[in-house]
Amino acid sequence: MANPLNDLSRLCIHTITTKPWSLDQCIDNYTAAGIPAITVWRDVLQKHGVKESARLIRESGLRVTSLCRGGFFPGATAEDRNKSLDDNRRAIEEAAEIGAPLVVLVCGAVPGQPLEKSRDQITDGIGALLDEAEAANVKLAIEPLHPMYADDRSAINTMKQANDVAERLSHSHVGVAVDVYHLWWDEALESEIARCGENGNLLAFHVCDWHTPTRHLLTDRELMGRGCINIKEIRRWVEQAGFTGDIEVEIFSEEYWALDQNEWLKQLTEAYLNHV
Ligand code: ZN
Repeated sequence: MANPLNDLSRLCIHTITTKPWSLDQCIDNYTAAGIPAITVWRDVLQKHGVKESARLIRESGLRVTSLCRGGFFPGATAEDRNKSLDDNRRAIEEAAEIGAPLVVLVCGAVPGQPLEKSRDQITDGIGALLDEAEAANVKLAIEPLHPMYADDRSAINTMKQANDVAERLSHSHVGVAVDVYHLWWDEALESEIARCGENGNLLAFHVCDWHTPTRHLLTDRELMGRGCINIKEIRRWVEQAGFTGDIEVEIFSEEYWALDQNEWLKQLTEAYLNHV
C-alpha cells in the first residue's frame, strides 16, 4: 500500500540506477517524470565535461543531492595514497562545480592489509582533505559498505565504524551516508543511526533492496519492495535521528539496466511511493 505521507518531493535518483542513459538523457527523463533531485556519478560527467555538465544541470532545475564517488584512501605505498588524495581533490572540485553539497566516499581497502590499518589510512586521508572540502563548501560522507566488500572496496563496514571515524575527525564537513543495502543486517543499526544523528553526522540516505539469492556482488541489487530489507523501518530510524534530506534510489542491476529505461523509471518511482 502507498505510504500516504510519501510523495516525490524528496526523491533523488542516482545516475548509475539508469546506467544506459547519458547525463543529458537522465536530466530530460528525470524532469519529465517529476523527479526533483539527482545524484551524479562521475562517469556521466565525461561526455560533456564538468563545466558543460554543470550548465545542463543548472538549467534543468534539478537539485543535486551528491556526487558519487570519492574515497579509496588506503594504499600499500605513500605514492598510492597520494594519488588517491589527488583524485579526491578533483572530486571535491567537480562537486563544487556541479552544485553538489556532498561527495560520497567508498573508503577503500587493500587485500591482505589489516582492516584496522586501512581504517587509520582512511581517517588520515579524509582528514587531509577537510580544509579543502570546507573551502569548497562540499561535505564528505563516509558510506559504510556491506562486509562482502571488506577485501578491496571498504574497510568501513558498519555504522559504528563510520561513526567512529567521523567522530575522530570531528569536523563540520565530514559525516556518514546510510545505505540500507549495506547495513540492514546489523543488529546495532538503530542505535548507531541515532548516535549518528545526535552528533549531527547523518548526511545521506540511500535505498534499494536485496536480491535473494544474490547473483553478483556488485550488480544485482533489487527494486524496493521486492527484497527482504526493512526499508520503511530504517527510514523511520533515519528520520527520528533528524534526517530531512533527499531519499536516494541507487540500484546497480544488470537485469534492470537491460529494460527500457523509461519503463524502469516508472517502476522505481512507483516502488518509491509504495515501499520506502
Ligand atoms: Zn549507496
